[in-house]
Amino acid sequence: MQFNATPDFAQAADAADSLRSFRERFLIPQNAGHDIVYLCGNSLGLQPKSASQHLDKLLDQWQNLAVEGWFEGETPWMTYHKELQQLLAPIIGAKPQEVIPMNSLTVNLHLMMVSFYRPNGKRNKILMEGGAFPSDQYAVESHLRAIGVDPEEAIIEIQAREGEEILRTEDIIAMINQHADELALVLFGGINYYTGQFFDLAAITRAGQAVGAKVGFDLAHAAGNVSLSLHDWGVDFACWCSYKYMNSSPGGISGVFVHEKHFNDPAMQRFAGWWGYQESTRFKMQKGFVPEHGAEGWLLSCSPMALLAIHKASLEIFQAAGGMPALRQKSEQLTSYLAFWIQKVNEDLAEEQFRIITPADPKARGCQLSLMAKRNGKQIFDELVKRRIVGDWREPNVIRISPVPLYNSFQDVYRFGTELADICKTSF
Ligand SMILES: *Cc1c(COP(=O)(O)O)cnc(C)c1O
Repeated sequence: MQFNATPDFAQAADAADSLRSFRERFLIPQNAGHDIVYLCGNSLGLQPKSASQHLDKLLDQWQNLAVEGWFEGETPWMTYHKELQQLLAPIIGAKPQEVIPMNSLTVNLHLMMVSFYRPNGKRNKILMEGGAFPSDQYAVESHLRAIGVDPEEAIIEIQAREGEEILRTEDIIAMINQHADELALVLFGGINYYTGQFFDLAAITRAGQAVGAKVGFDLAHAAGNVSLSLHDWGVDFACWCSYKYMNSSPGGISGVFVHEKHFNDPAMQRFAGWWGYQESTRFKMQKGFVPEHGAEGWLLSCSPMALLAIHKASLEIFQAAGGMPALRQKSEQLTSYLAFWIQKVNEDLAEEQFRIITPADPKARGCQLSLMAKRNGKQIFDELVKRRIVGDWREPNVIRISPVPLYNSFQDVYRFGTELADICKTSF
């Protein structure tokens, strides 16, 4: 696609976009009668219009069927999560049995560590990306302390080279090999929340498993954003939140992936609850936990139906849009168009006011570009908000902007680009 900075180009690109009608399935936030240019799907996805219908249906079932709703009605709650497994699996690149929506993300990180971080003698170390999302750092540190492992000693963080923001895959692999006989777990983000870097998950998985470590990913910024093949890559486990690119409501339900190679492992440890008990005999309420086969065996509690209902609304839209291949194709164009605008803003100013710290290679990033401002970053960001353009701000000087293929348009990116150019030229 040959970009240019005219309104005609943005209009024509939208007219040619086969996914353009999907924007109408979402509620675009309003300000004084205008659509906000919402470029913040990396933080909270927009509300699907169908969410309220799904929720209303659930409330009706609760009203009319009450406890019978678990087994009766069009979509009994007992098996509702199975429909979500079917819808989630292709987005994550998994078999339906390998995924399950449950809990929230940080909770699931702890639960997955119970199963996949099994320190043994000197093999007790965890390799993480330096600058991982704080909740992940707190989860790992506190988890280690709780089981008597010193986090200072056991956590290895890999940092970018001096003067670089992006981690080089070769450095990650070298670090894995350097600690070959000490690594119990490699636990990485899929996409780093700050830089927007999409790591080479297949290469990291191969390298980690080759030295005898388990490999798991936090896909908070990757799920529903980039194409994933967790099953084929042989990833041991993953978890994600679904309220970012999967639009499942603030604090909406998380999901986990467990590779099927672990399903029949008799030594597998887990924190158990009744909803993970073998379904066929669950209601015999017997002593002694017997896990259901598959990722369902990690469930603890009966499912929060309201959250599942909203999640399903969004997952149906992903399916209708043709899934990740179609979304990814548009996403690469939208984000490249955004990069084009940043370059133009810099050229017009005859200086690099914004440095894009996200990788330039579309295969090493998702929707998001992280723009490091040379100066006045926060004032520029605030001015964008005044002009009804919503991205987000990360200290000390980064603006994250994420055009989402399901509901953003080329004209959204055009609006952002022209306003940013104007703000930089006239105000600072
Ligand atoms: C958004 C995000 C979280 C948030 O965790 P919650 O438990 O859902 O609050 C955790 N980790 C990463 C990497 C994130 O991007």
